[in-house]
Amino acid sequence: MKNPDQFSGMKVLVLGLAKSGFAAANMLHEAGAEIVVNDASPEEGNQEAHLLKEKGIEVICGGHPPEILEFGFDLVVKNPGIPYSNIVIEKAIQKGIPVWTEVELAYRISEAPVIAVTGSNGKTTTTTLLFHILNIGGKKPLIAGNIGTVATSVAQEAHSDQLIVMEVSSFQLAGTEMFKPHIAIWTNLYDAHLDYHGSPEAYAQAKANITKNQTAEDYLIYNADQPELLEHRKDSHATMVPFSLSGRTESGISADEQFIYWKGEPYAERAMIKLPGRHNLENILAATAAAILMDCDKETVEDVLSSFTGVRHRMQFVKEIKGRKFYNDSKATNTLATKSALSSFELPTILIAGGLDRGHSFEELRPHMTHVKSVIAVGETAERFNEFASSCGISQITAAGTMDDAIQQAYGQSEPGDVILLSPACASWDQYKNFEQRGDAFIEAVMKL
Ligand code: ADP
Repeated sequence: MKNPDQFSGMKVLVLGLAKSGFAAANMLHEAGAEIVVNDASPEEGNQEAHLLKEKGIEVICGGHPPEILEFGFDLVVKNPGIPYSNIVIEKAIQKGIPVWTEVELAYRISEAPVIAVTGSNGKTTTTTLLFHILNIGGKKPLIAGNIGTVATSVAQEAHSDQLIVMEVSSFQLAGTEMFKPHIAIWTNLYDAHLDYHGSPEAYAQAKANITKNQTAEDYLIYNADQPELLEHRKDSHATMVPFSLSGRTESGISADEQFIYWKGEPYAERAMIKLPGRHNLENILAATAAAILMDCDKETVEDVLSSFTGVRHRMQFVKEIKGRKFYNDSKATNTLATKSALSSFELPTILIAGGLDRGHSFEELRPHMTHVKSVIAVGETAERFNEFASSCGISQITAAGTMDDAIQQAYGQSEPGDVILLSPACASWDQYKNFEQRGDAFIEAVMKL
């Protein structure tokens, strides 16, 4: 752990527990800070609160009383999910108290350099793919952030000969001050989380924090095909490494039908890539660029690209059965994600879709339904989805009550060469605990075949 004394004697308010608040509180306590933890959930059944109390830490549960700031804090570390409209945060900012998220803490204590990945979509896929390449390449990476282990916990254990590959959301980046990744990847920028950030500009600005402290020895790998993103990376002082699918770039990475190009020269053949989809090709370019910058050799990169079939539940290739390929895209909980999934294939596709009904339209999918030969609708939106599919001219339309039923029907309707795709365009909570459970049900049903 770098500079272990930097928090010694500081008075810190940790706002919001969950995994990140718990890790931050533990780390600060061990580092000698005087901390108070405040969590909105009641104390009863709040296991994290109990564990911290056992260590002698003061924990206030059941709400966020603004009077709490009268303790006179030097710093507030807030859970990324707590909005800036929260009264305690508002007051802390008025008083000039710095408000960080836990990734800022992680950065400040990490002996290992950080590679950070952000973007509206593709963070998990890019982070995971890059982690695999670095791992096979012997770079001793650790994975942290939104996926799996909390950044502070990882950073506490990291050594200088390692690397932390960190997935960071706009919520986390909003609370950074000195955070300075050696390599920053910015996959794309779509309007999202406007309820939290207030405006598209504030959202983009939070994302742009990933590069605000970078200098010329650092790298910003960014999507050069998105004009709205280009605008926001203008103030960066990092060495620019663009990625593009619309033409070769002399300073970055690109791809056409045949090759991936690094600095304008052919680098690897596209044919060996397993991960389907144009959007995934962008993720691949970003991860490959970072791996090259970290001195991974070409054989390692090719090794991973020719075996990586995706992250669980995100366009994950599950199995080929008698010429039918099954893909699990359960994470596609909105139409934008299902649009990406559908445009990944030209092969005849049997689509399993539907789920929680939020009243949203499926119209956005229409141009991408041309190769869908049949639809099996599930969940609350089954009837509405089938009406939509019918209006797209698809004649084979059925509904299924369970995933097993859906898979049996899909297989019965399929021929060799078909794709059978679960990409629901809806959240899962009408039938499942979460999208992971829905994807697992899909995998299980395929395995039963
Ligand atoms: P995130 O971690 O940002 O949510 P994931 O890698 O988990 O991203 O992918 C979530 C969904 O977003 C996937 O199911 C896919 O449909 C879509 N997606 C992934 N990468 C991209 C990309 N580069 N551009 C657009 N959509 C993408």
